[in-house]
Amino acid sequence: MKSLKASGHLLSDSASQIKTLHDQVFDKLQLPLFDQKMEAASLYPLKPARTTTMQINVGKMCNQICKHCHVDAGPDRKEIMTRHTMQQCLDKLAGSEITTVDLTGGAPEMNPDFRWFVAELTAIGKQVIVRCNLTIIVANPKYHDLPDFFKQHQVEVVSSLPFYNADKTDRQRGKGVFEDSVKALRMLNTRGYGVEGSGLILNLVYNPNGAFMPAPQQGLQRQFKKALHDEFGIVFNELFAITNIPVSRYLDYLISSGNYDGYMEKLVNAFNPIAASGVMCRSMVSVGWDGSLYDCDFNQMLDMQFDPAYNHISRYDQELIDNREIKTGQHCYGCTAGAGSSCGGNTI
Ligand code: SF4
Ligand code: SF4
Repeated sequence: MKSLKASGHLLSDSASQIKTLHDQVFDKLQLPLFDQKMEAASLYPLKPARTTTMQINVGKMCNQICKHCHVDAGPDRKEIMTRHTMQQCLDKLAGSEITTVDLTGGAPEMNPDFRWFVAELTAIGKQVIVRCNLTIIVANPKYHDLPDFFKQHQVEVVSSLPFYNADKTDRQRGKGVFEDSVKALRMLNTRGYGVEGSGLILNLVYNPNGAFMPAPQQGLQRQFKKALHDEFGIVFNELFAITNIPVSRYLDYLISSGNYDGYMEKLVNAFNPIAASGVMCRSMVSVGWDGSLYDCDFNQMLDMQFDPAYNHISRYDQELIDNREIKTGQHCYGCTAGAGSSCGGNTI
């Protein structure tokens, strides 16, 4: 399987994605646009609260090529953040009120300057989260010591695991992914990750395997904890249940499987104003591999940049950012349906 970009797919173009999201089902089924729903809930335009987190996408390169990837990441993607751009992030973060830096990708560990960046971020007192896909730890001997490196820098590890069995996990992420994930989880547990009292946080992320919304997070967490512990002796801290956002390869999956209309209708009908008031873009900014600034990783993939006066890390301006209007679109229904969805799971 290739990325949408490598296969020249229409949906690798962000303008086509936005047009598809806007036109297809909303016109046909006469569904309210996201901004209309927000206006009715007195939430339009959406304004930021205090920025506590900078999420940095250090590159689109990945050792996996998951079916639902909203980044369209994979081994064929070469976009990667340079040390120069990382240094610009560090310069802006030093002394800022941002407490947490959330590193994502692709597989962030594949960036050649990843370890340098983590060490520099912790040296200036930031809490670092790494979105680790687990299999990277066992993919190549040069990554086998990642659990020790994470421990050394007290990095919080957040890892996707679509399900607690091989069948569902491998269908979404590729053959052999579950087995490798179990190996990597054991390596992390051995270092104390996820073990009560260790202070080393290991959180897992569940996202649905098809065109449906996740079941309630607490129940899923109980199921995952029991199954992973009883069958594999694995422990972890929390499970975040995430709704799949109709962007990039997940959007392609929805359309090609004939599920797009039904899925969007489900999200629209499940719009929850309380979840909408807690969306993650209100408390974070997102940095692209080339230093561009966005409200979130999804807006990043749709090229919905901040306004030109402050749309690059070199022009980061907290005051302008605090006063901006968050750019929203039909994909935002994914964050505001049911109990809400963010990189940290439910928003309510
Ligand atoms: S979902 Fe994550 S692990 Fe899978 S291809 Fe995308 S970035 Fe890589
Ligand atoms: S996709 Fe979600 S996080 Fe991003 S702007 Fe929309 S509501 Fe905010």
